[in-house]
Amino acid sequence: MKRCPKCGIEKPRSEFGRDQRTKTGLLCYCRDCHNLRCRIWGKENRTAKAAMASRYRTARPEHYLWAAAKIRAERWGLPFTIVPADVVIPLVCPVFGTLLARSKRGQLANSPSLDRFVPELGYVPGNIAVISHRANALKFNASLEEHRALVLWMEKVTGKGPTRRRDVLDGWSRLSGCSISAVPF
Ligand SMILES: [Zn+2]
Repeated sequence: MKRCPKCGIEKPRSEFGRDQRTKTGLLCYCRDCHNLRCRIWGKENRTAKAAMASRYRTARPEHYLWAAAKIRAERWGLPFTIVPADVVIPLVCPVFGTLLARSKRGQLANSPSLDRFVPELGYVPGNIAVISHRANALKFNASLEEHRALVLWMEKVTGKGPTRRRDVLDGWSRLSGCSISAVPF
């Protein structure tokens, strides 16, 4: 147990965040008080907060994706059992084959984004992969059947269907700038 000097309440050690710089290895204030202080500081120092987030995203992109997913999982009540090491950012988007960019200015089309294969299963090992922000935004929460129906409809109205394997490879190759022989499927 440890007493928080801010709220004066004695709490279990698990209620205190870690800090390697202190003698106890824990933050001085409890999680509630620390988070409140951080929120107030963030509101009063918006530019500094944005710069800090940008540095974090650049220095530890996998960890950043993991931490952001953890917050979403808590907000939406989704299972969350992945550890930072489960998040692997590939060189290219596995959907479009485009190079994944590491932008300092928030989410771009080719920013890495953590996808849940089956959204309702949450962030659990075997149900996640890093794809581009654009691929994830397009996928959103649609089912495979809905995507198939969408493709069929798009093919019908544009007169460009049915999709052949060659069309898929051509599209992939155009997006990635690679020749078809280099396409890994
Ligand atoms: Zn406290």
